[in-house]
Amino acid sequence: MANDLPVITGITESELSNFLKEHGQSSFRQKQILDWVWRKRVQTFDEMTNLSPALRSLLAENFRFYQPEVIELTGLKGGTRKFLTKMEDGNLVESVIIPAARAEDGEQSSRITLCVSSQVGCAFGCKFCASGLLGLTRNLTTAEMIGQILSAEKIANHRIDNLVFMGMGEPLANGKNLFPALDIITAHMGLGIGARHITISTSGFVPGIKQLIDYPKQIQFAISLHGASNKVRNEIMPVNTKWPLEELVPALQEWVDAGKQKPTLEYILIKDVNDSPKDCQDLISIARKLNAKVNLIPYNTVKGLQWTRPSEEHCKQFCKTINYARIQVTMRYEKGHDINAACGQLRLRKEQGI
Ligand code: SAH
Ligand code: SF4
Repeated sequence: MANDLPVITGITESELSNFLKEHGQSSFRQKQILDWVWRKRVQTFDEMTNLSPALRSLLAENFRFYQPEVIELTGLKGGTRKFLTKMEDGNLVESVIIPAARAEDGEQSSRITLCVSSQVGCAFGCKFCASGLLGLTRNLTTAEMIGQILSAEKIANHRIDNLVFMGMGEPLANGKNLFPALDIITAHMGLGIGARHITISTSGFVPGIKQLIDYPKQIQFAISLHGASNKVRNEIMPVNTKWPLEELVPALQEWVDAGKQKPTLEYILIKDVNDSPKDCQDLISIARKLNAKVNLIPYNTVKGLQWTRPSEEHCKQFCKTINYARIQVTMRYEKGHDINAACGQLRLRKEQGI
């Protein structure tokens, strides 16, 4: 069946190179094919006019073009936009286009960040997270992750400058499709997004962190810590019962020791759950140990869940205390709050009818 064929935009350079070698094609063809796919963005093999008809047929017999359909686009004028993609099997996935905040000189920067999903749902079931509520349906394929970027570039009519794997799913639990996607995203003859402009976020899936340490490119790394003691993490993040802080922190230390980019500790502030002075001190001591940055995110309420965000004053005080401890800290109010598009708040509302 034609749609069993691998999608060409999910094929890495080395896979294509192996394919061409196996079929006795010169390596020069690879560059031509990649140029058609990634620079000229053609949609059929027939358009690859500098290839012989025989090679075009060979490609068409072994690969296909397929771009999942965007079925809904929600957003504010000039602001954050969320789009819903329907995968071939009917599963729905959300992605968020986030324009850069005003640059320091007051000019509007034209840089665009895309928040992509890596799975349909999520198996990790964090208690505060909309994505985890429904459990995991399936991993996204490499081409489906790439497809979100291609759709976003079309919608925004602009290239994607920064990429955050902070949509639905736990990217490191889908390493088999994530790592080839990273190869394609960072390839010069691919999407050409610099590794330093890509952030992978994990809730603390330790085996995946080890895999990411071994990945040769300088990807940015964020950890959804949200609690700096086992007591708090166990309460809100089931992943911590499997990989408690005694295992997570040394894995993060390995990342730091490997000379990778400075990690970011993401910390959602949830009222009366993780916002006490002791919680703050616990967070400071982990950040200090790892020489990590801290990113505070006042919790965005999720319909159907009981958690709320602390007062603005309380959040600011929490932030100040970290700052006084000379830890690099930022506080970020999610831009998509008003359209339920905040990263990490993605959920199949359409299917759920809420
Ligand atoms: N599974 C990975 C990648 C998803 S990132 C991870 O958890 O890191 C999504 C981010 O948004 C995570 O830091 C997540 O904890 C956070 N998040 C989830 N629900 C949220 C909410 N309601 N308000 C603010 N942030 C939320
Ligand atoms: Fe999954 Fe991350 Fe949400 Fe936890 S916070 S349920 S790991 S998407």
